[in-house]
Amino acid sequence: MARKIGSRYTVHQVIGRGSAGTVWLGEGPDGPVAVKLLREDLASDQVLVGRFVQERAALTGLDHPRVVGVRDMVVDGDDLALVMELVQGTDLRSRLERDGVLPPQAAVSVIADVADGLAAAHAAGIVHRDVKPENVLLDLAAPPGPGGAPRAKLTDFGIARLVDAPRRTRATRIIGTPDYLAPEIIEGLEPRAAVDIYALATVLYELLAGFTPFGGGHTGAVLRRHVTESVPPVPGLPDGLWRIIAECLAKAPASRLRAAELAERLREQLPALAGLPGIVVPAQGRAPAEEALTPAEAVYAEVDAGPGTHKRRRGPAVPLVPGPSPDSTRDTHTSLRRPSPQELASYAAESRAQRTAAVPAGHRKGRRALVRRRRLLAVLLAVVLLLAGAAAAWTAFAAEPPAGPGAGAGGGAGTHAGARPGGPQPPVSSNAPR
Ligand code: ADP
Ligand code: MG
Repeated sequence: MARKIGSRYTVHQVIGRGSAGTVWLGEGPDGPVAVKLLREDLASDQVLVGRFVQERAALTGLDHPRVVGVRDMVVDGDDLALVMELVQGTDLRSRLERDGVLPPQAAVSVIADVADGLAAAHAAGIVHRDVKPENVLLDLAAPPGPGGAPRAKLTDFGIARLVDAPRRTRATRIIGTPDYLAPEIIEGLEPRAAVDIYALATVLYELLAGFTPFGGGHTGAVLRRHVTESVPPVPGLPDGLWRIIAECLAKAPASRLRAAELAERLREQLPALAGLPGIVVPAQGRAPAEEALTPAEAVYAEVDAGPGTHKRRRGPAVPLVPGPSPDSTRDTHTSLRRPSPQELASYAAESRAQRTAAVPAGHRKGRRALVRRRRLLAVLLAVVLLLAGAAAAWTAFAAEPPAGPGAGAGGGAGTHAGARPGGPQPPVSSNAPR
């Protein structure tokens, strides 16, 4: 099914779907192109269209082999389209999902390519703001790089900035995927070039380890970790490479490497990484922190991942752009929605479970033994009391009517039976007439 976009482009078939729209294989005056048709609700947003046109020069002017070129931007009736260079390949997220972690040399080569693209953008005053594996395309038609790694190109430049508008209401606040968000964004500072470096280092970490350093669970937990936690080391990573990653994941933006420096430092590592296999990290995710969810996080983790699931979950918890009908109860990152009564009930159960889990394993064993001993003691006591009661009742019954000296053999039991308020009482005749 062919469809005209503006006067110069025709699109034929869908080649990808993203959060901001659908990507089509198309044809332009200079050959094949990829055309991203922005979602209807974005295309009908007049402010967005205005900004789109304003940014046209900056985005189409960014011409670099490691950046997916934007050839044209078309506003045509209800259509808002981004005409891009066609990349024959796949995106890094699909590759990661299909093949798992990359061998260190390939991972470093891919990230060095992206850092080159970022350096060009930053030099032109453009901050990407949404660096993540989904926005890195692997050009499988180009000759491979070091160690046979595919060449990479960064795409979606400026899209985050275009669709992210300060005028949007709190209910439709837009942020990027939380796993790659730099701490200064979370703290409300204006995103500068260093946010892209932080995000790119997170992608490198993910390519090597199979998970992001601060991802998993509820969005609030992810955001908190970005701001407060130190980066969990990837076991078996050469020191030089680890230092680069740690430097780029510094909490202070000024401490991070610049994009060109990062590309250079990464390429210096390439020879030493030749032949190293992909790293196998024992447990997926960060097991110790998994138990460190606060009760509030536990509620939301359950809301996010479904009842009974408290495994740290990867992947976007907050969409890049709001859906066509935004959920009005979702207004900020940290207060996503009010839990229902059922959720609160499961929270209580979960919180109990967490309190148990919070006790170290050795203590837990000791505590369980103590509880067992107490239970046994209580059962024994109950049995003794029951037997004593039964013996006393039998003694009292057998001793009636006049208690002989033999009744004294019951000793304490006899005394007890006599004192028993529920014991046999003589008829009170004086009560009868009333
Ligand atoms: P969004 O950013 O809106 O989520 P993407 O840019 O990630 O959408 O596009 C969705 C998919 O479309 C990508 O995963 C990729 O497979 C494909 N795609 C996007 N841009 C291109 C391109 N320039 N050339 C080839 N395929 C592309
Ligand atoms: Mg994208």
